[in-house]
Amino acid sequence: MKMEVCFKGAAKEVGRSAILVKTAKAKVMFDYGLKPLPKGVDFPEKVNDKIDALFISHGHLDHLGAAPLLKDIPVYAHEITSHFTRLLLTDTLKIAKQDGYELGYGEEDVKSLQRNFQFMEYDETVSINGEKIKAIDAGHMPGSFMFFMKDQSLLYTGDFKLEDTRLVKGANPDIGQVKTLVMETTYSDRDHPDREKEEKRLMDFIKQTLDNDGVMLMPTFAISRTQELILVLNEYGIKTPIYIDGMSASATEIINAYPELQKEYNSVKKAMQRLDVRYVDAPNRKKIIKKPCIVITGSGMLEGGAILEYMKRLHDNENCSVALTGFQVPGTAGFKLLQTGQMSINGKDVKVKATVKKFDFSSHASRTDILELIDKLNPENIFCVHGEKTEEFADELKNKGYNAYSPERKCYKINL
Ligand SMILES: [Zn+2]
Ligand SMILES: [Zn+2]
Repeated sequence: MKMEVCFKGAAKEVGRSAILVKTAKAKVMFDYGLKPLPKGVDFPEKVNDKIDALFISHGHLDHLGAAPLLKDIPVYAHEITSHFTRLLLTDTLKIAKQDGYELGYGEEDVKSLQRNFQFMEYDETVSINGEKIKAIDAGHMPGSFMFFMKDQSLLYTGDFKLEDTRLVKGANPDIGQVKTLVMETTYSDRDHPDREKEEKRLMDFIKQTLDNDGVMLMPTFAISRTQELILVLNEYGIKTPIYIDGMSASATEIINAYPELQKEYNSVKKAMQRLDVRYVDAPNRKKIIKKPCIVITGSGMLEGGAILEYMKRLHDNENCSVALTGFQVPGTAGFKLLQTGQMSINGKDVKVKATVKKFDFSSHASRTDILELIDKLNPENIFCVHGEKTEEFADELKNKGYNAYSPERKCYKINL
């Protein structure tokens, strides 16, 4: 018996995850994401086969941004993922309209995708034409799944993390052995800095800024990173007003509606009640930054969103600070700011006088996590995807005796 694993995206890159698995009984797609470009988006390769079902691992655009293109098939995911999907795709449509590019899908397709959702819980198994698929907790964010297929024949990790964060519990690596592993390898070459030290470094930076009567800007990803930061700020008892702007506010409301998906039941809402957290909208932005405060808003890589308006007003104020708390993809405005200290304001590159620092609050597996999971699963075949250094890592695994691949965008035949 053979199975085919086809890589339609996330091959030698981060973004547009799309892994098609074909067996004698079923054709199943795991994730169908997009990759944002400076002007436009990249989609996964088109699929010619009739697919029986789409499984979405979690609510991030690189895993679901192309989903409306797969029309009229059941979509399996955690219920919270359907809310994130609506939020992200509505925003994607808005940006495409603003910037004047075609996505190949519209509002109607997003609505019809919503109607096709079938919700799964952690540890639930569904059958697609008699092919069993089981979802387990990936520890990446609320509602994030890894998927087993054909019992333990194949495991697709989606994005995962073994270590706990403040928001969610890490994934349990003791899940038996698998034959074929398709795994994210974003951080295959390095470990994250110690989380507690990183939190303290951030707190020192915030304290320094507020002592100087400055505003602390925290450009961040709306979904799960905003809420992680709320929990960190709560842990250190920050008294200053914290403003949440744009999509970060909607994402926080969604997460608050699922208290059971947080490591500590309802922790985000409780933290918000203890802290002085307020949602802010466009007309009030100018007013709130007249006094020292913390602003959490997107986009995380300064590629759009409310953060640009705050940067416009505060970039030349040396008492203000910018804390980048997420991965900065080369080519983005956030990456450029870190490299050159410059940013484009009103179409001109200017030197940013506010202090800029980068912090690592990643919700991805570290190199240690990745190696630990491989060790526990003891797979025969490993496909390294969702990474910039998949070739180097696959070579390293080959030297350890695994059949490891940095897959091309094509199909691989696997013996069951
Ligand atoms: Zn993710
Ligand atoms: Zn991802």
